[in-house]
Amino acid sequence: MYEYNKVTPGILTVLAEIVGENNVRTDAEALEKYAHDETVGVWAQPDVVVYVRSAQQVADIFRLAQRERIPVTPRGAGYGLSGGAVPVYGGIVLSLEKMNRILEIDHRNLMVTVEPGVITGDIHRAVEAEGLFYPPDPASLDSCSIGGNIAEGAGGPRAVKYGTTKDYVCGLEAVLPSGDIITCGGKLVKNVTGYNLVQLLIGSEGTLAVVTKIVLRLLPLPKVRVDLLVPYDDFQAAADTVSAIIAARILPATIEFMEQDSILAVERLLQKKVPYDDAAAHLLIQLDGNRPEAVDADYEAVGEICLAHGARDVLVARDSRTRDRLWEARRAIIDALKHESPVNHMEDVVVPRAEIPALLRGIKEIARQHGLRIVCFGHAGDGNVHVNALKDDMPDDRWQALVPVLSEEIYRLALSLGGTITGEHGIGATRRRYLHLALDPVQIEMMRRIKDAFDPHHILNPGKIFP
Ligand SMILES: Cc1cc2nc3c(=O)[nH]c(=O)nc-3n(C[C@H](O)[C@H](O)[C@H](O)COP(=O)(O)OP(=O)(O)OC[C@H]3O[C@@H](n4cnc5c(N)ncnc54)[C@H](O)[C@@H]3O)c2cc1C
Repeated sequence: MYEYNKVTPGILTVLAEIVGENNVRTDAEALEKYAHDETVGVWAQPDVVVYVRSAQQVADIFRLAQRERIPVTPRGAGYGLSGGAVPVYGGIVLSLEKMNRILEIDHRNLMVTVEPGVITGDIHRAVEAEGLFYPPDPASLDSCSIGGNIAEGAGGPRAVKYGTTKDYVCGLEAVLPSGDIITCGGKLVKNVTGYNLVQLLIGSEGTLAVVTKIVLRLLPLPKVRVDLLVPYDDFQAAADTVSAIIAARILPATIEFMEQDSILAVERLLQKKVPYDDAAAHLLIQLDGNRPEAVDADYEAVGEICLAHGARDVLVARDSRTRDRLWEARRAIIDALKHESPVNHMEDVVVPRAEIPALLRGIKEIARQHGLRIVCFGHAGDGNVHVNALKDDMPDDRWQALVPVLSEEIYRLALSLGGTITGEHGIGATRRRYLHLALDPVQIEMMRRIKDAFDPHHILNPGKIFP
């Protein structure tokens, strides 16, 4: 166990000298806002919230925090789903939200350089306006920051074809808890010089260093996109179609799965109809490419596979208005389920893609045994399913006793299918006591040693990842 000190008035004065008085907040409104992210049930107030604008300011704060043994919790947009930005030991919340500039779009190297607080959707819009493409697209893209995406190794629907954040980060500037500023990688497509610290920092959940500058690889923007909305009367038939499409060697950009309960919740939240809302499940499939004939041939082949597996229809969205309407519904699911049952519990398991039907079958069985509603949706095309248990009107004490049991059953199911306990939301504060289910003691010990090497006094984001 590590011991930490409280932030004193003297420390507040030094913080104000580093970042300016306006960037240090201790008012009740700030302390409440920064006490949580989007994770249900994780809450802890910081002593102070500090907004930084440069790597040097982060370095100066780390030197102070080391000296005074104050915990520092980095925070992007606070849209995380595992409590990663919640300061569970109090101390300083280090907000990166004012470091929000797109520094350069480099056409000669197909790279974009950004500060960590830029909202991911703003990167999409900026590069797409210039005919370029940054594929990772978490459903929260209009709210979350690229720094948070790097810390969580965020994915999104397009991971099926394009991979996740880790596949696009070529260079990082980061500040270590010692106060040293390092630059790893750069505008380099290849680089095997020593250990790959860029990849080590991706997905490290803000526990090893604070990222202050990011170089991302871009692609040419695909010229043609077609989206298919495919309703099914049979939940299992939709799941089977996912494996059939992959087995047919067609690689859509996305294959999203949405159960009926998630569609109905979205309709109630947005007050808009979704076609075939009486269907048991929908797939939302996007195909893209540069040649219209090739994309058309792929979508016809995919449509036939869907119909052969019992789809009721294949609705085609070619124009951006129809497409936006479909994706608006998909992106609203998490909010809609919260609206439906303010207390709910979300898991983020991932399995080999061919095991999706078995995973969904197993989850339905768990729901049946416990007599509760579990709604599944998510990135079925890459094996990552979001599993939402709704409390509805279950008594509080029964719900609280049930959640850990449920989590463990869902994790064990995913692990038994060759999967793991989180695909994109991270371990954070909420899954750390289950880490041992997924990783053997040798691996956990290696990870502890890496943490110790970066942060010997554990001042950076304590209370995360490790049991
Ligand atoms: C409605 C909804 C939909 C979502 N959909 C997806 C999805 O499709 N795919 C997906 O992957 N996730 C999804 N998420 C989860 C979340 O949006 C992502 O984890 C996102 O990457 C969080 O970014 P953020 O800026 O909000 O990070 P925060 O919540 O602020 O922080 C997350 C973690 O990153 C660390 N951190 C933040 N900035 C830095 C930095 N500069 N340096 C070091 N550490 C840092 C924090 O300490 C914390 O541990 C969704 C969340 C919501 C609420």
